[in-house]
Order: sequence, then structure tokens, then C-alpha cells
Amino acid sequence: MAVILDGAALAAKLKARIREEAGALPRPPMLAVVLAGEDPASQIYVRGKERDCAECGIRTRTHRLPADVSQRELSALVDRLNRDGDVDGILVQLPLPEGLDPRPILHAVSPEKDVDCFHPLNAGLLALGEPRFLPCTPAGVLELLDAYEIPVRGRLCVIIGRSHLVGRPLAQLLTARDGTVTLCHSRTADLPALTRQADILVSAAGRRGLVTADMIKPGAAVIDVAMNRDPGGKLAGDVDFPAAEAMAGFLTPVPGGVGPMTRAMLLRNVLQAADRR
Ligand code: NAP
Repeated sequence: MAVILDGAALAAKLKARIREEAGALPRPPMLAVVLAGEDPASQIYVRGKERDCAECGIRTRTHRLPADVSQRELSALVDRLNRDGDVDGILVQLPLPEGLDPRPILHAVSPEKDVDCFHPLNAGLLALGEPRFLPCTPAGVLELLDAYEIPVRGRLCVIIGRSHLVGRPLAQLLTARDGTVTLCHSRTADLPALTRQADILVSAAGRRGLVTADMIKPGAAVIDVAMNRDPGGKLAGDVDFPAAEAMAGFLTPVPGGVGPMTRAMLLRNVLQAADRR
């Protein structure tokens, strides 16, 4: 049976350390959150981030804007936050309301305050192996591997999903750790043939039930990044958990695996941003 990678417990430990370090700074760090529109999931995510920050001694200031906010008003707010000396990190909650283009907004965030690591400069630094911030979800995956002493060097790492949020930056980080990385996507021919060779298999496709036990190499570390809803509304990953548990050596649960780690990594980035300033 697989060892279950307990992201919730590890995140709690990391948060305790972040709280201690935040308390040692000359003033508590500050995260500014921009939330436009009424998307219910975004409201829940933002409340979660506010709670996480409060637990770690990080202040938050959430700017709630109506769904009909203009591109120009949103840019003006980001510009003000960039210049605000009290703000260490800026997070623009996605998705933005329909009709707004997120790219110019995300690109307008000062790279020094870009705690989500979405700015092209920060994405470029990451690609060059000189990251200013680590993107939260990929960093959370690495922390989990490290905590359970799962080696990356020389291992075949197969990632399902090539998004700029998860798959691509994770491929860069695992490559930097001397993993041999195969990045798969919806046009990959014979996905199971590739996943079956993986020592570390990461699924970030957002397709419930995509990864079945026969796609897993016996003893592999299987990291399920996805957050899908089953028909009953329950959170589920991409991996068929009960079947995978019998095949994998290590396995993340959903919820309680990568999700809490992602949240903890955001807090770490805010702390780093504050510390550097
Ligand atoms: P995304 O932008 O929709 O990307 C999904 C990727 O998966 C794409 O590259 C897509 O291929 C690929 N894909 C889709 N179906 C596939 C299939 N049947 N076979 C192989 N590849 C397939 O999603 P994302 O933003 O990266 O997020 C992925 C999942 O992770 C979602 O469930 C999201 O909710 C979750 N997530 C979780 C966390 C967390 O903290 N746990 C954080 C971020 C995201 P193409 O490129 O060819 O379309």
C-alpha cells in the first residue's frame, strides 16, 4: 500500500515556521488581494487565503470590485498597490469577470510583489534557473517530495498537463533538480505508455478518473494536483485513488495533498517579498 503524502500536516508545519519568521520582521507582512466580481469559488478561495494569512501573522487587505469594473480601473488599482509602501505582495484572484483580459493586469503587477509568480519577468527568471519567487503549486509539489525524501535526480518524471500555472513551471523545477521530465498534454499519443515508465507521476489535467492503476509503475510516487468535483459535488483528483493506493509507492490524497501545500507556498512568497523589502 502506498505511503500517503500528508500535505495538510506538512503545510501546518510550514505555516508554523512562517508565522515565527513573519513575527521576527520589523513589521508584519501585508498581502493585497484584488477580487473582482462575484464568482462563488473565488470568494471562497479569497476567504481561505485571508484566514491562512491571519494564522501566520500576515496582514491582508482585500479590494472587492464590482463585476462591471473596467480594465482601466483595475489597472489603476494595481498601479496604486505597486506604489503602496505598506504592500509586500499583490494577488489578483482569477478568473476575472467576463470581458476583462487578465494578461495586462497580471503583467502590470510589480515583479517584486508578484507572489503568484505570474509576471513574465518572474516566469523568465524561473526558466533561467534564477527564480525570484517559486510558483506556488509546483513549489508545493517539490516540498512534498522533499519531505518524504523522494529523490528526483536521475528519475523519470512524467507530468500530465502543460499549463503555465502548473505543468510547465513544474517541468522546469524538476529538470533543475536533475529529473528527466516528460511533459504530456491532451494531444500526447499513448499517455499510458509514458506514465507507466514514470518514477514520479504528476497529474494536473483536471480530468476525474484519468489516471487508472494500470497507468502507474509499481512503487511510483503519484502526485495528484487536480481539483475536480465528482457528481455529488465532492472534491476529487485525476487519480483513481483506491486503485492507485495498491499500486503506487507514494500517493497524495485530494483533498489534503497538494492543495494545502499550494496555500502554504503563497504565504512563504509573501514572507519572502516582505523580507526582501
Ligand atoms: P489547465 O490550464 O486546464 O490545463 C490542463 C492541462 O491538462 C492542459 O495542458 C491539457 O492539455 C491537459 N489535459 C487535459 N485533458 C487531458 C487528457 N485527457 N490527457 C492528457 N492531458 C490532458 O489546468 P491547470 O490550471 O493547469 O489546472 C489543472 C488541474 O489542477 C485543475 O484540476 C485545477 O483545478 C488543479 N489545480 C490545483 C491546484 C492545487 O493547489 N491543488 C492549483 C492549481 C490547479 P492541452 O494543453 O493539450 O489542452
